[in-house]
Amino acid sequence: MKNDNKYSKVLLALNNYLVFFLLAAFLITCCTMLFVTVLTKTLGITLTEDNLAVAAKLTFANVVFLSAVFTLIDGIRRKLTVDRPVEQIRQAAQKITEGDFSVRVPHAKPIADLNYKFNDIADSFNKMAEELGSVETLRTDFIANVSHEMKTPLAVMQNYGTLLQAPDLSDEKRIEYAKGISEGSRRMADMMTNILKLNRLENQQIFPQAAEFDLGEQLCECLLQYENVWEQAGIELETDIAEDVRVKADEELLGLVWNNLFSNAFKFTEAGGTVSVSLTADEKYAIVMVKDTGCGMTPEVGAHIFEKFYQGDTSHSAQGNGLGLALVKRVVDIMQGDIGVESSVGAGTAFTVRIRRVKDDVA
Ligand code: ADP
Repeated sequence: MKNDNKYSKVLLALNNYLVFFLLAAFLITCCTMLFVTVLTKTLGITLTEDNLAVAAKLTFANVVFLSAVFTLIDGIRRKLTVDRPVEQIRQAAQKITEGDFSVRVPHAKPIADLNYKFNDIADSFNKMAEELGSVETLRTDFIANVSHEMKTPLAVMQNYGTLLQAPDLSDEKRIEYAKGISEGSRRMADMMTNILKLNRLENQQIFPQAAEFDLGEQLCECLLQYENVWEQAGIELETDIAEDVRVKADEELLGLVWNNLFSNAFKFTEAGGTVSVSLTADEKYAIVMVKDTGCGMTPEVGAHIFEKFYQGDTSHSAQGNGLGLALVKRVVDIMQGDIGVESSVGAGTAFTVRIRRVKDDVA
C-alpha cells in the first residue's frame, strides 16, 4: 500500500514536470523564434550555424531549468493547499471510525481560494462529529438508565423470593411477599412496554392511524378508568369538558397522552387535593388542561421532565420509570400539537395540550 503511494507520487511529479516542460518549451521556443526573426529581418544580422546551435542548447537548458522550478513551486503549493488539509480530514475520519468522536479538523490558513472550500468541508465534518458524539452519549446514557431501572425491581423480586423460601411462613407474609414479586414484575413489564413504544415512535415504526372522533368522549372514558384511584386517594375530581370538539388523530396514541397526564396528576396529589380536567376549543385548536393541586415542581425539574428516564420527585419513583412524559411529548409532536407546563412547588401543576381540531362545518 505504501509502495503504491510512493509510485503514484513519483508518477504525479513526473506528469507535472512534463506538463510544465511542454508549456515552457512552447513559450520559450516562440520567444526565441521571435527574437531570431527580429535579429535577421529587422536588424539584418545574419546568424551563423554555430550561433544557432548555441542558442538551441541554451533554450533547451532554460526549458529544463524553468520546468523544474515550476514543478517545485507547484508541489509546495499543492502540499500546503491540498495535501495537508486532505490528510487532516483523512486522519479525523480514521479516528471517528475508531469511535473517537471528540476529534475536530482545524481550519487551514486561507492562502488560496481552495482553503476556504476545505474550511467549509472541515466545518461540516466537525458538525457531523459533534452530532455523532451526542447520539453516542444518548445511546450510552440510555443503556445505563435501562440497566439501572431494571436493577431495582429485580433486586426487590430477588429479596421477596428469598423471603418466600423461609419455612413456616404465615399466610399473611406469604401473600405480602408474593405481591411484592408481582409488583416488581409489573414495573419491569411497564418499563419494557414504554421503552418499546418510545423506540417504535422514535424510529417511526408506528404510523399514526388518523381518524375523526369526539375528544370529550375520549377524555371521559380515560378518566373513568381512574375512578378507583381518585376515590381511594381521597382526591376530588373536577371536569369542564366542552361538547362536540372533534379531532382527527390516532385515538390510541392520544389515549397514551391522557393516561400519562391523569396518572401523574393523581400520583402527585395528596388526599384532599383536587385534579381538574378541562376541554375548550378555539378557532384552530382543541385545548386540554390537566391541573392538580399536588406537590408541584421547581423550574429546574420542569426543564427536564420530557427527557427519557428523568424523575424529579424521587419519593414517587417506584410508581413510574420516567418515561411517561417523554412518550407524551413524542406523541404530541407527531400530532403536530404542543404541550406546555406551569407549576409551582406546593401549589400544583397544570399541563396544557393543544391539538388541531376538526371544525363542525368541515366535519
Ligand atoms: P414517572 O412515570 O416516573 O412519573 P414521568 O415522565 O411521567 O415519569 O414524569 C417525570 C417527572 O415529572 C416526575 O418524576 C415528576 O418529578 C414530574 N411530574 C410529572 N407530572 C407531575 C405532576 N403532575 N406534578 C408534579 N410533578 C410532576
